[in-house]
Order: sequence, then C-alpha cells, then structure tokens
Amino acid sequence: MATKWVYLFKEGNADMRNLLGGKGANLAEMTNLGLPVPQGFTITTEACTQYYEDGRKINDEIQGQIMEYIAKIEEINGKKFGDKENPLLVSVRSGARASMPGMMDTILNLGLNEDVVEVLAKKSGNPRWAWDCYRRFIQMFSDVVMEVGKKYFEELIDKMKEEKGVTQDVELDADDLKELANQFKAEYKAKIGEDFPSDPKVQLMEAIKAVFRSWDNPRANVYRRDNDIPYSWGTAVNVQPMAFGNMGETSGTGVAFTRDPATGEKKLMGEFLMNAQGEDVVAGVRTPQKIEQLAEVMPEVFEQFKGVCAKLENHYRDMQDMEFTIEDRKLYMLQTRNGKRTAQAALKIACDLVDEGMRTPQEAVAMIDPRNLDTLLHPQFDAKALKAATPMGKGLGASPGAACGKVVFTAEDAKEWGASGEKVVLVRLETSPEDIEGMKAAQGILTVRGGMTSHAAVVARGMGTCCVSGCGDIKMDEANKKFELAGKTFHEGDFISIDGSTGNIYEGIIPTVDATIAGEFGRIMAWADEFRKLKVRTNADTPADAKKARELGAEGIGLCRTEHMFFEADRIAAFREMICADTVEEREEALEKILPYQQGDFEKLYEALEGCPVTIRFLDPPLHEFVPTEEEDIEKLAKAQNKSVEDIKALIDSLHEFNPMMGHRGCRLAVTYPEIAKMQTKAVIRAAINVQKAHADWTVKPEIMIPLVCDIKELKFVKKVVVETADAEIAAAGANLQYEVGTMIEIPRAALTADEIANEADFFCFGTNDLTQMTFGFSRDDAGKFLDAYYDTKIFENDPFAKLDQTGVGKLMETAIKLGKPVNDKLHIGICGEHGGDPSSVEFCHKIGLDYVSCSPFRVPIARLAAAQAAIAESRQ
Ligand code: ADP
Ligand code: MG
Ligand code: MG
Repeated sequence: MATKWVYLFKEGNADMRNLLGGKGANLAEMTNLGLPVPQGFTITTEACTQYYEDGRKINDEIQGQIMEYIAKIEEINGKKFGDKENPLLVSVRSGARASMPGMMDTILNLGLNEDVVEVLAKKSGNPRWAWDCYRRFIQMFSDVVMEVGKKYFEELIDKMKEEKGVTQDVELDADDLKELANQFKAEYKAKIGEDFPSDPKVQLMEAIKAVFRSWDNPRANVYRRDNDIPYSWGTAVNVQPMAFGNMGETSGTGVAFTRDPATGEKKLMGEFLMNAQGEDVVAGVRTPQKIEQLAEVMPEVFEQFKGVCAKLENHYRDMQDMEFTIEDRKLYMLQTRNGKRTAQAALKIACDLVDEGMRTPQEAVAMIDPRNLDTLLHPQFDAKALKAATPMGKGLGASPGAACGKVVFTAEDAKEWGASGEKVVLVRLETSPEDIEGMKAAQGILTVRGGMTSHAAVVARGMGTCCVSGCGDIKMDEANKKFELAGKTFHEGDFISIDGSTGNIYEGIIPTVDATIAGEFGRIMAWADEFRKLKVRTNADTPADAKKARELGAEGIGLCRTEHMFFEADRIAAFREMICADTVEEREEALEKILPYQQGDFEKLYEALEGCPVTIRFLDPPLHEFVPTEEEDIEKLAKAQNKSVEDIKALIDSLHEFNPMMGHRGCRLAVTYPEIAKMQTKAVIRAAINVQKAHADWTVKPEIMIPLVCDIKELKFVKKVVVETADAEIAAAGANLQYEVGTMIEIPRAALTADEIANEADFFCFGTNDLTQMTFGFSRDDAGKFLDAYYDTKIFENDPFAKLDQTGVGKLMETAIKLGKPVNDKLHIGICGEHGGDPSSVEFCHKIGLDYVSCSPFRVPIARLAAAQAAIAESRQ
C-alpha cells in the first residue's frame, strides 16, 4: 500500500503526535471531542523527512495527495481555492512533535489574489476586511516564504499611517489597505524580481516547502540542540481554513491558559484583541485586553469558551494553552497544547493535579521537565536588598527569577559579551526568533512591547531565563544603544536589575541569593526520591559546596577534586618546593608542610557530609599548572630553593608538554612521585579517624579514587602505596577504620580491560569528561572551535561533552560494567563527569545499572528527578 502522507483532522488523534506533530495531533483530538475547529489537514512529519531524502523536493506522490486533500477540505467546507463565488482561504502552520519556537512563522489568508480579494470584498460587504487580509497575506508570504524581511513592509505601513495621520493599523480604511497591498506587491517584485504568485495552489506548495525548509534553519537547529530534539523527527504541516478575527468589532482573536503559566494558580489567564488576526496578540502591536473582559464584550462566547477550557483540561489532565478566534460572534478553536510554564508553575500544577485527583504522584513526577528546574536553583534577589531598593519602572513579570547585569541592546552583543563572561540584561523593543541565542546568553530580558504571551515571554519561560516584558515607559533608542526610564538615560554597559516575578526594574546592582527547596518543590522531590533507584551524589571540593549539595539532596560526594588544596596561597610555595626538589627526602619534607592543611580540608568535608560517602580523587592535573609564570615569582622560588633563576626556568621548561591533557598527569604523577599519594593518603586517613572519633554514630569510610588509570599494573602500583600508608596510619592510631580504593574509568583502555582492573578496584567511577575526549580523540578545550561546523553539517547534533555519547562512550561504559561486575561482586559504580547532571544521560546511567550519578551541587535536584523519571518510564514498559 502506498504511504499515507496526509491526514484530515478527523482521521487523527492525540496519540499520533509523532506522525502529525503536536499541533496536528491536538487539532485532530479537538475535532474528535466535537469542538469547533476549522476542518483542515495535516501533512505528516514523514513527508518532511522524505522531502529531505528527495533532495529538498516534495515528490509527485506527496504533491498528489496534498491536491487530493485540498479537494476534500473544499468539499467539507463548501469553499474552493481561487473560487469566484466562495473562495477558500487557509493558514499554513508548522508543527513538530515538540513545540519549537525556532521554526517557521505561520502564513494566514493563503489563497488570495487580485480576483479573490474583490470577490470577498463584494460578497462580505466588508472591503476593509478583504484588503486587510490580502495585505497581511502578501506581507507574511513575502517574509516567511521568500525571506524578504518584515521591516520593509512595516516601513510602508508606518509611512501610510503617517500620511493618514493615524497611529493604529485598525484606523486605516479599505482604500488605504488596498493601496498598501499594491505597494507590498511592488516591493515583492523589486526584491524577488518576479510577480507575486497569484495561483493559490502554487502559493500553497511554496508555503509547505517553506515549512519543511524551516526545520533546518539555524534557529531551529540551535533550539533542537538545547532541548534534546533529534533532527530526524521532522515537522508536520497543518493546512487549515481561516477563521477571521479581523471582520470588525464582532470578531477577534486571543490566547489563553487554563492556569497561570507563571505561578500555576488555578485560574483562566489570557489576552484577546478585537478586530485582529492571530499574530497581532503575540506581536504586541496593540495592547490586548484581559480574557475576563471578554465576559463584557461577548458574554455568550465567553461562557462557551470557558466550557471548552474545562473540557480540554479534564481531557488532557494538564494545563492547556489555547488559541482561538471569534469570527462574527462564532468561536473557533485553533490550537491547544500542554502549556509551557515556569518551573514554579510546573511544580504547583503537578501537585494540584494530584490533590484534585487528576494525576498520581508518579504521573506528577513524570510531568516535570528536569531541565526546567534549573531556574529554581538560580539565584533570587536578596530579600533585604530588594526591600531597600526602589523600582524605577515596571513591566510584566513574564518569566520569574532575578537578573542583574550590564545593559546590551542586540542579541549579537548579548552573545558576545556573555561569551566573555559578562553578565548582561538584553533590552529590546520586542524580541523575535532571530534573537534566541542572545536571549540564551543573557541573565535576563527586558522588552518595551508585548504581553505575557509575547515572543520574549514565551521563549524566556521556555529557557528559564528571567524576563520582564512590556515596559511601555521605556523610551527606546535602539539605533544609538540607549534608553530612557524614570528620567534617566541608560547606555550600553550600565547596570540594571530586573525581577521576573514582579516585573520590577531597578537601577544598578541588587545582590542575589541562592534558592532553596521547599513547598511544592520539596513534595515533588520527595516523590522522586521514592521512585528512583539511582543514588545521587555531588561533585564538591569545599565544605560550602558540599553543604549546599546536601541541602539540595545529595547523598554523598562522588568526586572531590584535590587540586585546589595545593593551589591556595599558604600551600603553593611548599608544593613548588616539592616540584623543584632533587631528592625523595626533600620532596617528602616539602609535602609534609601541606599535609596538615589537606587533612584539615578533609576533616571539614567529612563533617559537612555527616557520615555520607566521600570519594576523594588524588591529584590529577599536570605539574606545569603549578609552577610560576611571572618573573617575580620565579625569582622568589629560586631564592627559596637556593637555586639560580636559570635553573628554575630550565626546570619549568622541562615540564612543558605538547599535549598536557595526555601528558604527565593523573596516576602518572603518583607513579613518578609516590610521595604525593603517600601524603594525600595520610591526610585522608588521619582526617577520617578524627571525624569518626568525634561522631560515633556516623560511618566514616574513605573512598580513595585513583585517576586516569589505563593498566592494572599502574593501579596496583599506586594502590600498594596507598594501602601501606593507610594501614600504617590506622595501626599507629590504634583505630578501626574501613576504607576503599577505587579508580576512575576515563581512558578507553581502562574500560576495555575492566575485568583486570576490577580485581584491584573497590569501585569504578566513570570520568566521562576525559573518557569523552579520549574516545573522540579531541580535546574539550579545543573542540569549541570546530564543533559549530559539525553541527552545521549534521555530523553532530549535540555537544558530546554536555550530552553523553551513548553510542560510543556509552558502549565503553557498558563494556566496563559487563567486564567488571562478574569479577568483583562488591564493585560499586558511578559517574562523575558533567553528564551526571544531564537528564538524558542520567536516564542512560539508570539503564546500564550504575549505582549513582554525581554532578555539580545545583544539578542535584535535576539528577534526582531525571533518575525518578527513568525508573518510572522503565516500570511502565
Ligand atoms: P505558533 O505555533 O507560533 O503559535 P500558529 O500556527 O499557532 O503559530 O499560528 C499563529 C497565529 O495564527 C495564532 O494566533 C493562530 O491562532 C493564528 N492562526 C493560525 N491558523 C489560523 C486559522 N486557520 N484561522 C485563524 N487564525 C489562525
Ligand atoms: Mg500557536
Ligand atoms: Mg579526568
């Protein structure tokens, strides 16, 4: 049987999201629920994939089916494309499986031409409406399909308004709009070199191609990478007869949420505009009315709409985000989806749905996007400082959180400044999809125009970035990179602070404080902990980090890096002495000076962890990182060592490595200088004995981790040093202390020989940062320079340092587990690379049977939730 590439709305349902995209599947579902939906069709995501396979062409078979379905919807709606009596106009909309703001804009009123517009004008007795539709269509088609650029058309509109002495689009009359349509077509011809297409079927096919094309635009590619959406999914295209919200004062259009997407509060939230078409509400051209006001404007329609909202929410058992249009007092539903929401709202809604009996706790846990939690873990304004500050302006609190940074005016600047470590607040008239990367780089976004559903607001909430939108008091001068507010002028680089919850804007810097887990966040996390099997530890080197991580639910330290314990001012001199020393005795003497400091550090860590496991990794970085670079410091060192400056310089030169990442580091340091491992062992064991003595009810059991092992003999060698030292310490103290010696698996050879290594190791911990760079053979510090080219060419879809490469690196991990476990049944296994806090990587770790993941403190809750979701997903299979 031939492939079915096209589905009528009534042929689909909500479960067909993969094939029909989210928008298409939900249009189908709403149709099945008997809601008023203009009846159209969906071209499948498979057709998109096929389009790319065919070399960016819509093949004859697909074109044929599209034509067939046009005939079907002409029949259903009693209107015909290009007809002189009853012309059909449609919208063409993209719709991927997951909603994607980076994709193509919608085209409305497709099917219009010189003749059709006259028919509409005459038949409706509303020529203003007919010409308004036509000029909108030319504008959108030119911009979206032919990429002419919005601004040329906006300039023409502005000029027209000026000539007519009016400020609003709605004040332009039929003749003005007709004139505009003609100007637009002339503009099109000037830019494209061809006449504006008049055949509706040609218009449609071009528009469909543009949707397919947009799947591969740079914005979409960036969005996919950030949101873990595979390129292979493709987008569907929805073709839907128009409902006209621009027919006059009995028509309008709006968007609404069944619950507040910012706070989660259970109340209808939304905005609408009379005599307008869909994108007007979102674009913030006119300021929309609150949805409650619809009760006064059109009470019957409002009642009907509330009924639809309740029906949809009960059906989907989740907060809905809906788009509707009223055409001459008749309500049409154009879209519904599970609404995007802030992390705060997500938690509240999930808990409320459980309390309302709509969802189980398991479902509530599964509903929350772990990536979203990030925002809650971001700083908030310090309450005292906030109280003392006076806002200089107010917009809408569009996406919560606190942001403080330097003002920038373009997305490019935000990206550039952000890349060089500056904290910036992006201030714009309004944002558009081209701004995504800049918005991502900013701490916060402030816009002059636009409501709660403006582009800036929706995208910021999705990214978890703080956003204040629609501060109309700002006098913006984008061209000169300045704005005025409260009588002050702000230039690029000036500090401002914005509060995405209240919408307040402040001059200068307001200090921020860290967030905590409480209320609904705590409830969800408690449920998550019930369901998850993976333990979650943290990567922490200091008691402060460890304490934070414990507050956020860490069950131990999976990686304590000890390098900073050598760097601090009071220790670095001694460590440099050890590097310069000529004999073992001299080296031991130098290290002896560091020992008490390090022991003190470990004691504080054990105290902070209150008996939870602590994995301490022995010194890892190459020695050259510790030697001085400044002339002055070199001289000092020479003096302290009784050596000549030349000698010291020669020594420093000798430490130079061509490829330090693969050089003299990790356990190789302990092989050449066993004294270092000896000193670190003493520090660990003495600290543990002391803390154990002070807290009889804790179990302090040191886990000593040897990094960068590639051969069993290497581990044996270092382990012998550790064990001899440790046992001697324990005996000398007359203590009874258990300890473990394990290794990182971060070199492919270690993974491949894990059956040998497991004989000597009490535990494995996958150091997936190094394992990734060693497996791919490119350095984490250099990959940034060429990874973009890899994304552009689709060789990579993701940064393998952020998202674990399950195919290659993952296979090595699985291999190591399969080889190691049978040899040593006590072997426990974890991961401590950056990946330990990445949700999809955590899911993988669950699947391959790790005991724990370890991640930075602020990602601990994300890992807890992701681990629970992995367990829930597995139990549902
Ligand atoms: P997005 O995914 O960005 O929301 P949509 O495809 O939903 O884009 O459409 C953008 C706007 O156009 C929305 O406000 C929507 O309601 C409106 N729209 C889309 N199709 C139609 C239609 N057939 N009739 C009237 N308005 C429409
Ligand atoms: Mg929409
Ligand atoms: Mg490493």
